[in-house]
Amino acid sequence: MRVLLVEDDAMIGKGLVAALSAEGMSVDWVRDGAHAEVMLRDSSYSIALLDLGLPGQDGLDLLKAARRQGADTPVLIITARDKLDDRVAGLDLGADDYLVKPFETRELQARMRALMRRRAGRATSLLVAGRTELNTETHELSRGGVVEVLPAREYALMHALIERPGRILSRSQIEERIYGWGDEVESNAVDVLIHSIRRKFGKDIIVNIRGAGWMAPKS
Ligand code: CA
Repeated sequence: MRVLLVEDDAMIGKGLVAALSAEGMSVDWVRDGAHAEVMLRDSSYSIALLDLGLPGQDGLDLLKAARRQGADTPVLIITARDKLDDRVAGLDLGADDYLVKPFETRELQARMRALMRRRAGRATSLLVAGRTELNTETHELSRGGVVEVLPAREYALMHALIERPGRILSRSQIEERIYGWGDEVESNAVDVLIHSIRRKFGKDIIVNIRGAGWMAPKS
C-alpha cells in the first residue's frame, strides 16, 4: 500500500515513515505545498496524510485545489489545529478524516484501516479472495488451514493482489505498490517474495499469468 505523507516537521515525518514502513506500507514523504500539490494528483496512492501548516501553501488550500482537479485519493488530515471550524472546513473540503496532533500512531493506523475499508465498501478488516483471507489488522494470511503472520513486504504484496481478486498486476505495478522512492529494488525481489509466500501456503495462492503478471485467484 502506497502512502503519501505531507508533513514539514522532520521529527514527526521521520517517526511516521518508520512506523508505517514497519507495517509494510511504502511511504513517499514530501515536506512542502508545491510538491504536495503535484503528488496529490497521483492516483497510485492508497491514502494521503496531510498536515495543514505547510511552508508555501496551506494544506486546506491544497486539498481544495486537488479535489477541484478531480483528485480522489483518500485524505486524512493530521494537524495541530483543533478548532471546530478547522475540522469542519477540512472535512467539507474533501478530507475523509481528521486527526488532531499529538496522536498515537496506533490510532492513526486504525483510522487509516477504517478509511480504506470505507473506500472499498467493506465493514471488516478481512480481505477475501476465494479461500484466501488476509487480516489487515493482524497481517495474518490464511488459506487451506495454514495461518501465518506475514513479514512486511510479503504482506504488502498480498494486500496489493487480494484487494481486487482476479485482477492481474504486472511486476512494475507490484514494485510500485510495495517499495518507496528511495528503496533499492533487486530485479528478482518480487519473485523472491512470491516464492516465500507459495512455500508457506501452496503454489495456488498466487496465479502467474505468463507475460502479464500475477493475481490472487477468485477460488
Ligand atoms: Ca506543519
